[in-house]
Amino acid sequence: HAKEQGRNMYQIYSRSMDKRDYHSFLLERDLRKALLKDELVVHLQPRVNTKTGRIVGAEALVRWMHPQLGLIAPCEFIPLAEESGLIIPLGKWMKRKVCELLDNWRNRGIPLIPIGVNISSQRFLQKDFSKEVRSLLEEYQLDGKWLELEITENSIMKNEEYILETLRELKALGIKIYIDDFGTGYSSFHYLKTFKLDGIKIDQSFVQNLSCQSENAEITIAMIKMAKHLKMDVIAEGVETEEELAFLLEQNCFHVQGYLFGKPCAIDEFEKCYLTTV
Ligand code: C2E
Ligand code: MG
Ligand code: MG
Ligand code: MG
Repeated sequence: HAKEQGRNMYQIYSRSMDKRDYHSFLLERDLRKALLKDELVVHLQPRVNTKTGRIVGAEALVRWMHPQLGLIAPCEFIPLAEESGLIIPLGKWMKRKVCELLDNWRNRGIPLIPIGVNISSQRFLQKDFSKEVRSLLEEYQLDGKWLELEITENSIMKNEEYILETLRELKALGIKIYIDDFGTGYSSFHYLKTFKLDGIKIDQSFVQNLSCQSENAEITIAMIKMAKHLKMDVIAEGVETEEELAFLLEQNCFHVQGYLFGKPCAIDEFEKCYLTTV
């Protein structure tokens, strides 16, 4: 039945779409199947405290192992997933995988570290979001402190009572919430006052070339200062060079993520490189 439907759609699209749309169409069709066939993969990137040199967490980033095209980066299919609504089951799958992994580490006696998961605003803005997270934590008997959520500014643009309620519920579960890609969204400073969020992740576009681009330096300094005054944690994303690191250290920003410390990698590699096994 699904196949028939697919064929009909194919006919509609093949007449009216240009090549690029057609490529997207095929990719979307494959993504639908990928979710069922377990072709998605979780990669992890370490977050480091540069003061202690220790791994203080990780970010979970989705990859797609396409049977013909090979490993596909999220920038190629997350927008498609957003458009088609597939981002909802994809996000659900990601959160479950991360909980499964934490459970697995615990069973193997590996000390846990918090893992951040990216949440699409589409899902975050649905009223039952916190319920999904709560039942997942209950299912795996996990403390909320191990699952961190990265949301974008678009998720908290509207000052609606139910968003406050969602944030309250997540907070009650012990979950930390970070604003991802901070500084690149459309929202105002107003929400920083309204919502009690745990931290910001300074977008990599500000972090890169910090040392030689004075605008980036000024903006980054201001972001770090503001976050500190608001008692929010700051994570600098996309740290690639020693110069960038030195600049951040000087500004008392010790929580970083970037290629300088480690690229996102498969779970087994992450375990080997960064975790202490017993
Ligand atoms: P993000 O959440 O801001 O993730 C950080 C991105 O920066 C990752 O790209 C990471 O590989 C990359 N990155 C980290 N350090 C460096 C660095 O030093 N230099 C450079 N140039 N890049 C660095 P990735 O994995 O391609 O993911 C891209 C975006 O896709 C993510 O941006 C996030 O918005 C989205 N995404 C990834 N996984 C998921 C997911 O499971 N759900 C949702 N909704 N979105 C996801
Ligand atoms: Mg992120
Ligand atoms: Mg980001
Ligand atoms: Mg991003």
